Amino acid sequence: MASTEEILNKPPEHCPGTQSESAGKASACEGCPNKQICASGVTKGPDPGIELVKKRLQDVRNKILILSGKGGVGKSTVTALLSRTLALRNSEMNVAVLDVDICGPSQPRVMGVQDEQVHQSGSGWSPVYVDDNLSVMSIGFLLSSVDDAIIWRGPKKNGMIKQFLSEVDWGKLDYLLIDTPPGTSDEHLSLSTYLSEANLTGAVIVTTPQEVALLDVRKEIDFCRKVNINILGVVENMSMFVCPCCQTMSEIFPATTGGARQMCAEMKVPFLGSLPLDPVIARCSDEGRDFVSELPDAAATKSLMNVVDNIIQACDKKQLI
Ligand code: ADP
Repeated sequence: MASTEEILNKPPEHCPGTQSESAGKASACEGCPNKQICASGVTKGPDPGIELVKKRLQDVRNKILILSGKGGVGKSTVTALLSRTLALRNSEMNVAVLDVDICGPSQPRVMGVQDEQVHQSGSGWSPVYVDDNLSVMSIGFLLSSVDDAIIWRGPKKNGMIKQFLSEVDWGKLDYLLIDTPPGTSDEHLSLSTYLSEANLTGAVIVTTPQEVALLDVRKEIDFCRKVNINILGVVENMSMFVCPCCQTMSEIFPATTGGARQMCAEMKVPFLGSLPLDPVIARCSDEGRDFVSELPDAAATKSLMNVVDNIIQACDKKQLI
């Protein structure tokens, strides 16, 4: 198993990859000890990482990608809230979050574990435990500065995603939520490749109600369909504003085209529910506090319970297929 240092410091930055037509023949291959073996063609074939990921995730019952068309719609916040709600709902259930939002890993902060260290053992990287039944692994634990990752190119990101999917020792899990970067980039292609044999349960897409966000969600839905990712459904975040003083609800981002519900009907994907914009959610996320258990009676907590019920049902349905 590669050490954290090796992964971070020795990227296959210019390596064309063993599957490439130019494997062993590109200028970057000059001087590489694997030049001959790559040029001979014996390395071509399915990426062995696919099998490693399949094996590593065989005890994870539900693997869910959390996607968004745009940044800033609350994907990471919703991932954290969903994981906390799932873990709280049933203490017998083991839940984890894998943060592969390489250029903006926010799970360590949102989950309140940003000063923790990731440990390595013979069986892989141990995730950080937020609670007895809730763990998190993030690239944020490994980087000294997030700016480091922003300049990474495709092959290095791909390598990191493979490592993350194949080397974290989760133990038995009921739900693994994978927080991805916004949009449809190299990282998404890597995820769909490495998870192709791992029985991915599906994707949850997070959006806000305005048309400008929904436009990108349509692209995200098309992407999922192209790469054969099952869509569990769409969550509309920041649908309404809940006044912290009087609890009155008002619309901040007007759903001029009918919001996510209408778009789901048009695109024939399930609508999983909406979450209000609540300033306390933003504060709790910044401070790494658990909104769901601190405010069990809040409108947002009730909405979250409803969304989680729908996700559980959608996952159970997929398991029966
Ligand atoms: P993304 O992962 O899509 O880039 P974030 O999860 O980082 O977005 O959220 C962007 C900002 O919006 C953060 O400051 C977060 O606290 C805030 N936020 C997200 N969802 C809500 C919500 N339902 N209510 C209040 N603030 C929210």
